[in-house]
Parts: sequence; structure tokens; C-alpha cells
Amino acid sequence: MKTSDNRKRRAVVIGGSMAGLFAASLLRRVGWDVDLYERSDVELFGRGAGIVTHDELLRALTDAGASLADLGVSINERVALDSTGKPIERLAYPQIVTSWDRLHSLMRATIPHENHHLGCNLQDIRQDADGVTAVFSNGRSEQADLLIGADGFRSTVRARFLPQVTPEYAGYVVWRGLADERDLSPEVHAAIFEKFAFFLPAHNEIIGYPIAGPNNDLRAGSRRFNWVWYRRADAELLKSMLVDEEGLQYDVSIPPPKIRRDVIDGLKSDAKGFLPWPFYESLLGIDRPFFTPIYDHFSPSMVFGRVALVGDAASVGRPHIGMGVTKAAEDGQSLARCLASPEIDVADGLARFNAERVPAAWRAFASGRELGEFMHKSGSAVPPEERERWKELHSVSAMLKHTASSSFVREVRLQQPAPATSSSNQSEQI
Ligand SMILES: Cc1cc2nc3c(=O)[nH]c(=O)nc-3n(C[C@H](O)[C@H](O)[C@H](O)COP(=O)(O)OP(=O)(O)OC[C@H]3O[C@@H](n4cnc5c(N)ncnc54)[C@H](O)[C@@H]3O)c2cc1C
Repeated sequence: MKTSDNRKRRAVVIGGSMAGLFAASLLRRVGWDVDLYERSDVELFGRGAGIVTHDELLRALTDAGASLADLGVSINERVALDSTGKPIERLAYPQIVTSWDRLHSLMRATIPHENHHLGCNLQDIRQDADGVTAVFSNGRSEQADLLIGADGFRSTVRARFLPQVTPEYAGYVVWRGLADERDLSPEVHAAIFEKFAFFLPAHNEIIGYPIAGPNNDLRAGSRRFNWVWYRRADAELLKSMLVDEEGLQYDVSIPPPKIRRDVIDGLKSDAKGFLPWPFYESLLGIDRPFFTPIYDHFSPSMVFGRVALVGDAASVGRPHIGMGVTKAAEDGQSLARCLASPEIDVADGLARFNAERVPAAWRAFASGRELGEFMHKSGSAVPPEERERWKELHSVSAMLKHTASSSFVREVRLQQPAPATSSSNQSEQI
């Protein structure tokens, strides 16, 4: 990939998590010179929890040159429990479940150290007809032919071009935690480990599946159970949950170590008698479960001159669809495909990328909202004319089929709004 003065084209990528790593790696493979800048001072190893994979993600990992060996745990079925812990629905559904940490380390290995820069917090962007410049708060500035904003849901890059697009709180949080496989009783293990397990009472979703142990240990007995509970929390309750032990108020989310003990104890006491025993007993093996408030947003454009948005910076769908990493990976594939030809003008390639990926971002955003409706409505309150649709989307068998399923996202029914109105009706903004 050469410019008219015969130098390789250069891209700077802002953000070193999934979207940044995929974009950087895939553009490198089609001949671009790429440097990645992450604001964290330390490598992002050892963080995160479980991730469900899809065939699309496996293809993107292969395209990026990442190894698929020991990717995660292969499971074959989904099972829904009733409140007594009895299985009420089963669905054969082979899938590989893995961890954010595993995917991050596989992708991190595809970027040479000399092109990966930590401690670089993007502060400003300047662009003209010849190029784009990233300005960092440490005084560094970098010029390139293309800047990729992979800086997450509170993106500095997006705020520069689409200040009106801000994440909207969904009215619920996700509690998560990892229980060691060896701490689970044989009964709990048999009931919910080595499968994708669900409990679906009104206004809640509880799920769990196995992932590797620390250092990607996939040996039986050394793995962990990824425990998840979506729970409603109105804005007032959320605000109180975002206060740490010292009384410090956080505004959007709170770092896991800062969550107050009484908030965690409250979760555990609410779980008693409400969760089926396998989910409750596995929770007892998790000392500090943590919560993340659920937000979503949609950007009606992903390209601004020589700047492109990818991953969560561009849009976020509610996590029931389990597509965050896959969408980020597909954004990177599309960018690389659209900018691969040495003949293509950057603006033309980016226009093609925008045309491909904005509709895909919409599908993730809209399908996440559709699937997440059960958090605020319940089947018994649905008017007769909506019952058929409700059953198709939210009956127990439908939830087993649609949760973390890329085919559900492809089939989304909701119409994409015209760009001018896409972010105008967001109510509770951060
Ligand atoms: C440490 C970590 C752990 C995670 N664990 C999970 C998980 O277990 N399960 C799950 O479903 N999702 C997890 N996620 C979120 C998941 O990665 C995303 O939802 C999805 O993969 C899309 O990723 P992204 O790269 O677009 O955004 P993000 O993953 O949010 O990454 C954005 C990156 O940009 C960096 N950044 C932000 N602002 C700037 C700036 N101004 N300058 C430079 N860099 C900047 C951030 O430090 C971050 O590394 C995690 C994210 C992180 C960062």
C-alpha cells in the first residue's frame, strides 16, 4: 500500500483493546504501516471475564493471523433451569466460549512491540487534505493518512465528530464473577458447568458458562465458571451503587475493586431463595462479583474525513446479543478489505467501509434493544396483539436460541432511522 510519493500508507489506531488490535492487525496484513496507541500505562493482560465466540469471530482471528489452538472451552448445549434448578428447556448449540483475556493475548501477539505504544492518551485530532494528526496528552503527536478511533464507548474520537451521540443507560446492570471449577460441588458442576446455562425469571437474565482458568488453563478442574446476572437498577439506585467505601461518587461505572462490600452482600442476599440452587451455590464461590451498568449507543456515521470509528467507539449493542468483540473484529476486516488495494483513494475506501458497517452497527444496536426488552416488560403484561412477537423473541426457548447468536443479529427487524434523527430521542444521557 503506497502513496503517490511511493511511501507506505500509515494508519494510527487509538485504543489497544479488541477493536484496535483487530483494525491494526488486519490493516498491517494488507500492507499498511500501522501504529497503535493505548492510554493505559500497562498491558491489558489478565482482565475481563467471559466472551462467547461466533464463526464470524473465528474467521476474523484467522484473517488476523491469530492462532485458534486452545481458544476456549467447547460446549454443545444450552439449558434453561426453573427456580428449583430443574432443566425445563434444552437446545443443541455447539459454541466455543472463551475469555476476554485469551482473545486479547492472541490478538496482542499479532502486533510487533515497536508498533504498540502504551501511555498515550489521545487529546486532539487535526486533519487537512494531506493527512491527519493525533495529538496525545504526553506531548507526542503522530501524522498519518488515516486515524482509527478504537477508543471504546466513551470515545474521545467520536465526541470530536458526533458530540450528540452519547451512551444511554438501559436501566439495568450486569453482575459478573468467576468461580473456580474446583470449588463447585459435583451437583452444581453437573447442573450448569460445561454448558451454557440460563435462568429467565421476569425482568432478569441469569446465565453462566465455563471459561479457561488463569493463564488459559483449559484442564478439567482448573477452569472457571463465568457467572452473569442482568438486574434492573433505576437511575437513583445505580447512583447509590456507584459510591465507593470512601464516599466517592463515580458517574458512569465503578472499578470492580471499588464496589462497596454492602452492595455485594446485598446481591448475595437477594440471590438466596431467588436463584436456582446451582446458580446460587456457584455465586457463593465468588468473593467479589462486580457490576457494570448497561449502556448502548449508535453512530449514524463511522467516517469523518480521514478518521474512522470502529468497535464500541462507533456503536454498542446491549450485551445479550454477545456481539461486542465480533462486531469489533468485523469492523477491522471491513476496513482492511476496503483499503487493501494500492490504487484506492483513502476517501473512497472509507466511504465503502461506512456503507458496509453502519448498517451492521445498527443491526447490533437494534437487536440488542429487542432482546433486552424482557428486562423491562414481562410476558403476562404484553397486550394480545404483541403476544406472538413476544413469544418469538422472549419465550424461554426463543431466549435460548437468540442470546449470543449472530444469526439473530442478522435477522433484526427494526428499521434504521434516517441519520438526522438517529440520536435525537435518547433520554437519559451520560
Ligand atoms: C480491560 C478490558 C476488559 C474487558 N472485558 C470484557 C469482558 O470480559 N466481556 C465483555 O463482553 N467485554 C469486555 N470488554 C469490552 C469489550 O472489549 C468491548 O465491548 C468490545 O470488544 C469492543 O472493544 P473496543 O476495543 O471497541 O472497546 P474497549 O474494549 O472499551 O477498548 C477501548 C480501549 O481504548 C482505550 N482508550 C480509551 N480512550 C483512549 C484515549 N483517549 N487514548 C488512547 N486510548 C484510549 C481504552 O483504554 C481501551 O483499552 C473489556 C474491555 C477492556 C478494556
